[in-house]
Amino acid sequence: MAVVWLDDVRADDLDLVGGKGASLGELTGAGLPVPPGFVVTASTYRAFIEDAGIDDELFAAVEVDHEDSAALQAAHETAHDLIMETPMPDDVREEILDAYRSVGEGDSFVAVRSSATAEDLPDASFAGQQETFLNITEEDLLDRVKECWASLFSERAIYYRNRKGFPHDKVDIAVVVQQMVDAEKSGVMFTRHPSTGKKEIIIEAAWGLGEAVVSGTVSPDNYVVSRETGEVETATIADKKTMCVRDEETGETVMRDVPNDHRHERVLTDDEVSRLLELGELVEDHYESPQDVEWAVYDGEVYMLQSRPITTIAEGDDGEEGESDSGSSRAAATGDDVLIRGLGASPGIASGRARIVTKLDHLDQVAEGDIIVTEMTMPDMVPAMKRAAGIVTDEGGMTSHAAIVSRELGVPAVVGTGDGTKTLEDGEIITIDGDKGTIREGEEPEEKQRQPVEEARPKTPVKPMTATEVKVNVSIPEAAERAAATGADGVGLLRIEHMVLTLGKTPERFIEQNGERAYVDEIVSGVREAAEEFYPRPVRVRTLDAPTDEFRQLEGGENEPREHNPMLGYRGIRRGLDNPSVFRLELQAFRRLFDMGYDNLEVMFPLVNDAEDVLRAKEHMREAGIDPEKREWGVMIETPAAALCIEELADAGIDFASFGTNDLTQYTLAVDRNNEHVADIYDELHPAVLKLIGDTIETCREVGVKTSICGQAGSKPKMVQFLVDKGVSSISANIDAVRDVQHEVKRVEQRLLLDSVR
Ligand code: PEP
Ligand code: MG
Repeated sequence: MAVVWLDDVRADDLDLVGGKGASLGELTGAGLPVPPGFVVTASTYRAFIEDAGIDDELFAAVEVDHEDSAALQAAHETAHDLIMETPMPDDVREEILDAYRSVGEGDSFVAVRSSATAEDLPDASFAGQQETFLNITEEDLLDRVKECWASLFSERAIYYRNRKGFPHDKVDIAVVVQQMVDAEKSGVMFTRHPSTGKKEIIIEAAWGLGEAVVSGTVSPDNYVVSRETGEVETATIADKKTMCVRDEETGETVMRDVPNDHRHERVLTDDEVSRLLELGELVEDHYESPQDVEWAVYDGEVYMLQSRPITTIAEGDDGEEGESDSGSSRAAATGDDVLIRGLGASPGIASGRARIVTKLDHLDQVAEGDIIVTEMTMPDMVPAMKRAAGIVTDEGGMTSHAAIVSRELGVPAVVGTGDGTKTLEDGEIITIDGDKGTIREGEEPEEKQRQPVEEARPKTPVKPMTATEVKVNVSIPEAAERAAATGADGVGLLRIEHMVLTLGKTPERFIEQNGERAYVDEIVSGVREAAEEFYPRPVRVRTLDAPTDEFRQLEGGENEPREHNPMLGYRGIRRGLDNPSVFRLELQAFRRLFDMGYDNLEVMFPLVNDAEDVLRAKEHMREAGIDPEKREWGVMIETPAAALCIEELADAGIDFASFGTNDLTQYTLAVDRNNEHVADIYDELHPAVLKLIGDTIETCREVGVKTSICGQAGSKPKMVQFLVDKGVSSISANIDAVRDVQHEVKRVEQRLLLDSVR
């Protein structure tokens, strides 16, 4: 038997039909409305490769060095060609086609979905790595089934299994063939609040097929429904610009603009909400645990497309005590014992032995649990920063290297103390408070010390519950996993400076010694870590923007131009355009990642001033083989010039503009962002900065350009309130702030909604 019907499948048939097949079979068996279909079993795939004798060749082909992208690409091509070129046995073909003809009317459109047997391993990254094809008819069915088999060997899948040490021959793949539900509306439903466990149903809904909601390309409506009363407690109606539909002529799935009169219309009727509530109760009762369900409405009927447990809501946690906050009541560090103050740059309280590290010292003096006290951190300090319990610097502001990296590592930090390296004594026990920016003498009791990131992380990867997307900033690739675990809607800024500075050499020197290819490889490997962790959520990667004084510290730095004011100097896009030799390679690295299937990447250019900068950068993108019409790309708004020229930038074709308030503030107020002497007048909420931002958002909304913020201020509640009020499309926050920003955005959106009906 090459196929089994969903009616005959149960949850424990995982090995035969894979995770997706087993879940659909179980739902069908429980009497829930699931579109009819069958599964081409995992044994059919296994028999196919073994009987044709291609199995050994296949597994040998994918045993490659996963960091070598050329080898990875060759492995994928070999495996794909082997599968596609090997004929399917006649009896299997006939069985699949016979089954297809019994689905629906006999000539239905079907969805063909991979269902790997290892897909439901605890590591969710397996999910979504294999192919899904929608709107397939008999003509293409067999090829699509083989494409699903071959997708077990996509570059991403090979890379992922090799990296995690997961043997290739232990994963099989089944294929679910199911009648297409030509959804008029669709979305997801949580049968409990996914982060608090509260007994309410959360529904997200948009027009058209569900792919747009699941992949995050459209902001859906959000409904919170009480399970006690069945009442809709809140309904947040999003501006739904696009929808995923089946093209009547070609049968292919395409994105279309939502007709104007539907964009702001509420998607779900009260009856549909009630039906979803009823199904949510049934499915939760059936599995005896909270579920995350994909659903669709077709011809007045609600169908269930998939259901997965929300595993991480703690046992017995029904959220009755209200939503937890991320813990802001902590021991105040305001007593007389404060030794010194600075800026609280990475939250948390930690005690440890002060370890004064001057530039000449060896970092191996820093032991596990020490507190590094230094003038300013540098990229080669990162391994020591990981060991440290806390970080204190003399110099720097909230957007300095020390602040950014500490936050991503989840290590409490106080920066810009002025003379911490002189005031504190090497070896003395101190307690730092990364919220209040204080350093006290002595040790804090263990229970009062806090590592913020673990606490700040939601208990489950939360789907966007807000119309405004909430993303996260990433600068060190190792932080990508923790960043993804926040449930953020993507990466709003992936900086590559850290990847480059940790090479220990200027890019020019590195390329001179190791070749261009090696530089490209370094960037591919760092960016891929984030692109992989977040896939298919979007990751906005930015070309290099490091000032010359940071390069000067590296080998080859002696060749950097000497500048009185590096912040106003040779950095960002102006350097890239003036001397494109390195810039070109960064774009080539992004091109390679697109070729490898990371279609979630978006390209962003730093420090542009005007349309000329943008048009020249766009031309370089084209030369590198990145089609600006097909890929999402945009710019940072970091100078008043860029903000004032936004119409021209939009005409140049940008898809998005992202406020880099770290720079925009320093250039608007003429206040050096890294100078602790003027830190108290560095104010991202200054009316002049807000005016530039507000006007830019207004223009962008008129011309259809998305807006975002990726500067440090995006983590501040006041800025969040301002931006959501103005209608920003997304906010990208620090890892530790994502959760609070999600709450803040939601609060403002609800207020706006209430205001509009009052
Ligand atoms: C900014 O300027 O706000 C920004 C995000 O870029 P960077 O901090 O890397 O200059
Ligand atoms: Mg900047």
